[in-house]
Amino acid sequence: MAHAVYLSGSGVRFDVAPEQSLLEAGLAAGLPMPYGCTSGSCAACRVRVESGVVTHRAPPQGLSQAELDAGYVLMCLAQPQSDLRLALHQPQDVSTLRPETWPCRVLERRWLSDDVIGLWLKLPRAERPFRHLPGQYIDFLLEDGRRRSFSVASAPNDATLELHLRVAPGGRFANWVAHEMQDKAMLRFEGPLGAFYLRDDHRPSLLLAGGTGFSPIKAIIEGALANGDDRPMHLYWGARHRNDLYMHELVRQWVERHPNLRYTPVLAEPDPEWTGARGLPHAQLLADYPELSGQSLYMSGPPAMVRNGKALALAAGLDADHLYYDSFEDAHTTWPGLG
Ligand SMILES: Cc1cc2nc3c(=O)[nH]c(=O)nc-3n(C[C@H](O)[C@H](O)[C@H](O)COP(=O)(O)OP(=O)(O)OC[C@H]3O[C@@H](n4cnc5c(N)ncnc54)[C@H](O)[C@@H]3O)c2cc1C
Repeated sequence: MAHAVYLSGSGVRFDVAPEQSLLEAGLAAGLPMPYGCTSGSCAACRVRVESGVVTHRAPPQGLSQAELDAGYVLMCLAQPQSDLRLALHQPQDVSTLRPETWPCRVLERRWLSDDVIGLWLKLPRAERPFRHLPGQYIDFLLEDGRRRSFSVASAPNDATLELHLRVAPGGRFANWVAHEMQDKAMLRFEGPLGAFYLRDDHRPSLLLAGGTGFSPIKAIIEGALANGDDRPMHLYWGARHRNDLYMHELVRQWVERHPNLRYTPVLAEPDPEWTGARGLPHAQLLADYPELSGQSLYMSGPPAMVRNGKALALAAGLDADHLYYDSFEDAHTTWPGLG
């Protein structure tokens, strides 16, 4: 028996057939649903069930127990057992943000640190240009059917996208980009994807980045500053060494010009002369903000940081409705068998 799903506050309704997931049914109904891996890892399709009963058709590995307890489900795996009401946030310009396939040309690639390469892509002039919300990501579509997810590091502009790729040992795509890709190569991607973007609620916001997790946070901060958004924001950027904070000076310039923005770099293995914070960025954030009930938290970067950060932040009183994250899962985890 099909069940009706209502999106809170929007008047939108769609029906879900017995074998369908919430995500499949929403997409089939033409709705711009946030999603990523579609296999329960990335949690881009995380949503809170306000009323009704849902089961997951496989374990929702991307959710912590605290999120499950708070009523969150993953739409890619969730199947309704009754009619439902979902608290699914829809950005105002949602209709222009449906994921599509785009060609692009590489304008520039440049090492930003020992193992991070920056990539600048030129988009085709189109009647309807590519649009994204700062914080969202794209999937490169590789010739063999594989995909690779990378967050857009630039706030929306007319014609270019900036990305930051960690070149991991054994990482196929990033190593190809760094060492084999021709200048001005043509690539294809799908996007925009995900639901990691700054909500327009003006709440004080903590931003936690690990390594290249800085990429979507950079887009978020640049977008907010360009829009004159003066909510208090505090960025924690964790890395191993000082050189891994590959845009440290840029952040310091933002901070000089914008009194609402604070910045705490945190190094796990600093040189002796480092006078800043040491250790793990989520631990430092929690040490500075032991009580999080009035805050929003945006996190992106290594899965372990996101997992531990989630658990600590929710235990410190963060409202799960104001927790947003992109966990940078490796492709072999996100697409087992295809990664
Ligand atoms: C929403 C999202 C946004 C992301 N944004 C970014 C971003 O902005 N910047 C960024 O750097 N990363 C980002 N990532 C992470 C990135 O997509 C993955 O790390 C991706 O796998 C990198 O692709 P690759 O081909 O370079 O490396 P891969 O070939 O996928 O390898 C990545 C790592 O996995 C190891 N590995 C590969 N296969 C296996 C296996 N079978 N078993 C064990 N280990 C294996 C490799 O040795 C390497 O260390 C994001 C991920 C997600 C989900």
